Amino acid sequence: MLTEEEKELYRRQIAIREWGIEGQKRLKSSRVFVAGAGGLGSAVLYYLAVAGVGAITLCDADNIELSNLNRQILHPHKNIGMPKVDSAAMTLAEANPFITITKVQDRITDENAETLVGEADLIIDCLDNHETRHFLNHVSVKRSVPMVHAGVSDFHGQITFIHPPDTPCLACFYPFESERRQVPVAGCTPAMLGSLEAMEALKYLTGIGETLKGRLLLFEGLSTEFYTMNLEKAPGCRVCGGE
Ligand SMILES: [Zn+2]
Repeated sequence: MLTEEEKELYRRQIAIREWGIEGQKRLKSSRVFVAGAGGLGSAVLYYLAVAGVGAITLCDADNIELSNLNRQILHPHKNIGMPKVDSAAMTLAEANPFITITKVQDRITDENAETLVGEADLIIDCLDNHETRHFLNHVSVKRSVPMVHAGVSDFHGQITFIHPPDTPCLACFYPFESERRQVPVAGCTPAMLGSLEAMEALKYLTGIGETLKGRLLLFEGLSTEFYTMNLEKAPGCRVCGGE
């Protein structure tokens, strides 16, 4: 059930023909696991919170550093040094007091990933390294939980919607690198890709439109162009088995 206050808060999106009260109720009963409260996570978490996703788990092990603030707009300057999950949860609770935020200040590993994801309906990859993405991909494949994947650097980004066993999994097309590198990034790039991730999530959770299932969208900011390519399962993929 939606309260009168919630109906007013969400009025402009409930007015979308395909969305309606039913879509809003579906969002309220949805559980989403967001890995990373950095640049991508700032956009994803904010838009999912104010859209009324009922239960959001946000997972990030790090504290806020000064050099995060060119892109991680969930975090105000005064919160430098604070755990990102605490800062993010505060911002989100102020933005929408009608949802439940669960904080997990932990590093995702191959051992704990499944437990951390719990009963989430959707995983959203807002990470900045390859290795952890693959840990979440294992959970996505094992449990058939869909995962929105995005990555950014400089002015570039990519995004897809992974839904095993219907689509290729992350390991079918994305290299495994254990090395962690800090890539240069303009703040508006994760804002763009994070916003697209939030849109994929909202479409999936409300049942509106078509997601990027089996398609990789590439964004090239320097020429302001989008490209889409079809993804294929890798024969004998070590995670999903491929085709
Ligand atoms: Zn695969």
